[in-house]
Order: sequence, then structure tokens, then C-alpha cells
Amino acid sequence: MSAPARSIKMKLYNSLTRQKEDFVPKDPQNVGMYTCGPTVYHFAHIGNLRSYIMEDILDRYIRYSGYNLKRVMNITDVGHLTSDGDTGEDKMLKGAKREHKSVMDIAAFYTKAFFEDCEKLNIRRPDVVEPATNCIGQFIKAIKTLEQKGYAYQAGGNVYFDTSKLEKYYVFNDFTEEDLAVGVREGVEEDSNKKNKADFVLWFTKSKFDDQELKWNSPWGVGYPGWHIECSCISMKHLGEHLDIHCGGIDNAFPHHTNEIAQSEAIIGHKWCDFWFHVHHLNTGSGKMSKSSGEFLTVSLLDEKGYDPLAYRFFCLQSHYRKTLVFTWENLDNAANAYSKLVAKVASLKKDGEIEKTAFELCRSAFCEALDNDLNTSLAVTALYDVFKADTNDATKLALIEDFDSVLALGLIEGAKKLSAMKAEENVGKAWVEDLIAKRAMAKAEKDYATADAIRKELLENNIVLQDTPNGTKWTVKM
Ligand code: AMP
Ligand code: ZN
Repeated sequence: MSAPARSIKMKLYNSLTRQKEDFVPKDPQNVGMYTCGPTVYHFAHIGNLRSYIMEDILDRYIRYSGYNLKRVMNITDVGHLTSDGDTGEDKMLKGAKREHKSVMDIAAFYTKAFFEDCEKLNIRRPDVVEPATNCIGQFIKAIKTLEQKGYAYQAGGNVYFDTSKLEKYYVFNDFTEEDLAVGVREGVEEDSNKKNKADFVLWFTKSKFDDQELKWNSPWGVGYPGWHIECSCISMKHLGEHLDIHCGGIDNAFPHHTNEIAQSEAIIGHKWCDFWFHVHHLNTGSGKMSKSSGEFLTVSLLDEKGYDPLAYRFFCLQSHYRKTLVFTWENLDNAANAYSKLVAKVASLKKDGEIEKTAFELCRSAFCEALDNDLNTSLAVTALYDVFKADTNDATKLALIEDFDSVLALGLIEGAKKLSAMKAEENVGKAWVEDLIAKRAMAKAEKDYATADAIRKELLENNIVLQDTPNGTKWTVKM
């Protein structure tokens, strides 16, 4: 049963206004969403993937609500330095050196790995995925425009954005200066070429790393773009001069998103993006999980340890995206157990009878109410559990679960089908063993010991061990 149209009343927290607002896109038939993609110098860790899981829920829920969404994501394969404050080494070069490969090989390898992880976590691939190195021409054009409009200056060989030309630079200013410094990660050094502390690089020509592998000709000399300009340009290339919603992890709010807004609005001369959706961090006991610390967990590692990646998705959905989530193995174990039980509950439902419309709508309204309230996934999961208790038939319950799972994407129907198939296989196996034991008993009764022995041998070859007792033959599976 496809979900009937509903009146849309979704409220979302907007980091720009620091309040929950009605999410009202300009054109419901043409909603634009931009997501900062991964910097592909290493595997994504499960912290990065928390952000992508929650953004995926937002993507799916916007579509579920009846909007026509186009979602764009960049792949950062150049320009993201080890410090977000324009100093340090290009992360891609660092990755290439670590693995003795070329930057483009590193980018191709980790981009593929990223989407493989996303697939395991049921994260939809955005409609457009664009590597930064595809768009150098667009970056140069945008920087030229900034220069013509008086927002850019050259100093020490680099091109900088002049933040003093803006009326307001710190747009997400519920952060204190100290909070903002969190975004400027390790190894921050003062750049003496900058006119103002907050100015940032649009184009690098002077790199203290002469071995920078990827360089392009530009009006300012051979060099490479800054990280922030790529997101402004890739978004505008595919979504035009107005953006409905922009997503990213909270560490991207400053300086990355602050700089994106500064450049984009300076280029187009009007407001660029209405909504800013920031996902808070996944922390370990010792703080934020980060690639640069070298100590991080990947989806492959969870896989190797025997966790279903979707149990990690379930773990993330149990907490609100605007709260820090602490990872411990114990928390993951609890989520993994609850997830398998949930799949088993779904598997126990039988497809009987007709879907009861009133019951369906009642349960669905609780689910939508949860997600309409700033994407409260943990309450949406509660609404899912309430389906099992609802006063309706199994067919309606199954239809509801399928409907909710088009947003939650926990693979519940598929998981339940697999579980039922495994159980059926087990039952067929049992019937086969018991049939052979009966044939063996008959052979023994007829003193046909050769057949009886052959049956015992055949079962043993299939790891089934027989034990004859006064109460009949018992069997066990050899471990
Ligand atoms: P990166 O690959 O470093 O460019 O980051 C990709 C995305 O992951 C960005 O949206 C970051 O803000 C986000 N991110 C980074 N670390 C974490 C974390 N520990 N928890 C949640 N999101 C994160
Ligand atoms: Zn970005």
C-alpha cells in the first residue's frame, strides 16, 4: 500500500536562526538539498557515517512527505588541508604519501569504499555526486567574480576572501569564539598574509609543500582551490542560486559553512540557503571520533566483528541528531540485540486479510508526528514498536512497517524474509534427518545392517551424530 498524500507540517531546527521552523521550500516540486561529501583520503569512520545516516533520514523523509527532492553531494579530492584554518598539508596528499599511491588513485579507492559503506548502511546515493577536481573551471570563474566585486585580494601568492567586506561574517553565532575554534582542528598557524583573522584562502599558489600533486593553471598562477569554494560552486552548478537546505556535521558549521555562505552570497548578491541542518558528533570515551587521530572505527571493522551494519544504523536512530552520541561496544551490543529481536518480531507477522485503513492512518500519524518534530527518530522508532501492539491485523502491521521503513531504512522486511527463509531451511533439514533415522530403524528391524550403517555414515558426513538410546535414536549437530 503506498502512503496516501498528507498535509506537510515538518518543523526542523535551523542552525541559521537557532530555532525550529516550518520547513517550507520555495517550490515543493523542486527542492534542493546539498550535503558536504567525504574527504576521500581515508575510510569514512562511523562518526562521519552517523552524519550521513541522519542526512539520509532527512532526505528520505522529505521525499516521503511528498516533495520532489534533488540532492547533491561533493567529493572532496583536493583543497582540504589538515587544519580547517588554511594551514597544513592537503589531506589527499597526506593519504597518497601514507600509501605510496597517486592522489587520484587514493581518491578513486576511498570514494568507492565510501559508497560501499553507504550501501551497507542503506544510505541512498545522492542524485548528483561531483568530485571537486571536475569543477576547477567553475571555481576559477567564481573567484574572478569575487575579485571583480571587491571581495578577494591577492597576498603572498594566494587569493583570499576579505571578510571585512561583509556586514556579518559569523552567521552561526550561537557558537562562542571558543566553540568556533573547535572547527579549526589541529595545527592552526597564523597566516601573516591575511588582512583579517577570519579571511580564508580561495586559491593557493604558494604551498609550503612543493610536492602538491594536483595543480592547475589560473589567472593567479599554478595552484589549487581552497576547500570552501568547492561546495559553493558545486551546489550552484547543480541547484542554482537558491538552496533550500544544506547539511553537514556540526564541525563544518565553522569555518566551512560560514565561509560557504560568505562566498556564495558575495557572488550572487542575495540570500543563498534557507535551512542549515547540522548533525552532532559521535564521540568515543576520549572525545570526537576523527580520521586524523588515526583511532577510528569503520563499517568493515563492525562487519568483521560480526555486527550487522544496519544494527549501527538502528543505534544512530535511537538518539536525536542534535545530541552528541557516545559510542561504546556495550551500547552497540544493546542496539544489535534489540535490532535482531525487532527483525524476528517482523518475521512472526503473517500476511492475513485486508489492510485496515483507519488503524493504518492512526499508527502512521504517530510516526509522522515524531519526524515532523525536528526529525525525532527515536520517537519514530517507538511508533514502529507501537505497531506490534496496535489493535489491527498482521497485514496492516506489515504494511505499516514497510511504510515506516521506507524512511528508517532498517531493512526490516528483507531481514524478516531472510530470517524466515533460514528457519524454513532449518525445518527442511530437520525433516530430512528424521526421515533418514526412520529409514535406518526400519533397515535395522529388517536386519539390513549395511543400509543402516550407510545411513549413519551419510548423516555423519553432514555433521549429524546419532546416539541410540532405550527411548529411540537421538541426534545432535557436531560443532
Ligand atoms: P570529512 O570526510 O572529514 O570531510 O567529513 C565528512 C562528514 O562527517 C562531515 O559532514 C563532517 O562534519 C562529519 N563528521 C566528522 N567527524 C564526525 C563525528 N565524529 N561525528 C559525526 N559527524 C562527523
Ligand atoms: Zn562542504
